[in-house]
Formats: sequence, structure tokens, C-alpha cells
Amino acid sequence: MPIDATLPYDDQNIFARILRGEIPSTRVYEDDHAVAFHDIAPAAPVHILVIPRGRYVSWDDFSAHASEAEIAGFIRAIGRVARDHQLVAPGYRILANVGAHGGQEVPHLHVHLFGGRPLGPMLA
Ligand code: C5P
Repeated sequence: MPIDATLPYDDQNIFARILRGEIPSTRVYEDDHAVAFHDIAPAAPVHILVIPRGRYVSWDDFSAHASEAEIAGFIRAIGRVARDHQLVAPGYRILANVGAHGGQEVPHLHVHLFGGRPLGPMLA
């Protein structure tokens, strides 16, 4: 069920619980600003979610309210995960769904990182 990205942050959302270690995930990277783990329902041979540690509902919330250090740290973490998984030479895709029309289901900002096969044209 897509979320309303304008709602306040919900500390009980599933990625908040993954960040706190209350729910297991297969972490592939973490640092002061970001955590990355395998998507539970992969849509490509490599499908990793990268999330900020901060309490941000969506890309909109993050881009408006995160500090410069959080933004830089998060973007660098996405790039680092792609390099760690040898995705740069073959290529890959990053994607953030926002709110209802974007199909966002979890109300904590997450960037999908897809790779491992030709992904084809982006569908609107
Ligand atoms: O962008 P959107 O909110 O639609 O994506 C949520 C993603 O979170 C889905 O790809 C889903 O498979 C993933 N997920 C997960 N682990 C969970 C719950 C959801 O990897 N426990």
C-alpha cells in the first residue's frame, strides 16, 4: 500500500526497525550515515536498498531537511555499494520512489540499487 510521503516520520516503520536491529536484514554496508541491505524480494540479480540512518520519510523530506553531511554521506554510500558489488563497469540503476504516485511503500527513505543484468529502458 503506497504511503503518503507528507506524513510525519513513524518510528515503527519496518526500516526503522531494521536500523535498530529489531528485524533481521542482510547488511552489505554501513557507516555513520547509511545502511545498505539486500532487498527481501529482489527484482534483479543485485537489488540492494540503501537507507540513511536519519529519520526521513522520503527523498523529499531528506532533500529538504537533511544536513550537508548527511546528504553527502548518503550519496557517497550509494556509490560505494555500487563499486563494492562491481556494478560500475557493466552499469546499474538507482531509484527512489516517493509517495503514492511513486509507489513508495515503506515510509523511510530508501534508494533501490539494481544491477547484474541489462535492465532495459526505464518505465515511467
Ligand atoms: O520503494 P518501495 O517502498 O516500493 O520499496 C520497498 C522495498 O522494500 C520493496 O522492494 C520490498 O521488497 C523491500 N522490503 C525489504 N524488506 C522488508 C520489507 C520490504 O527489503 N522487510
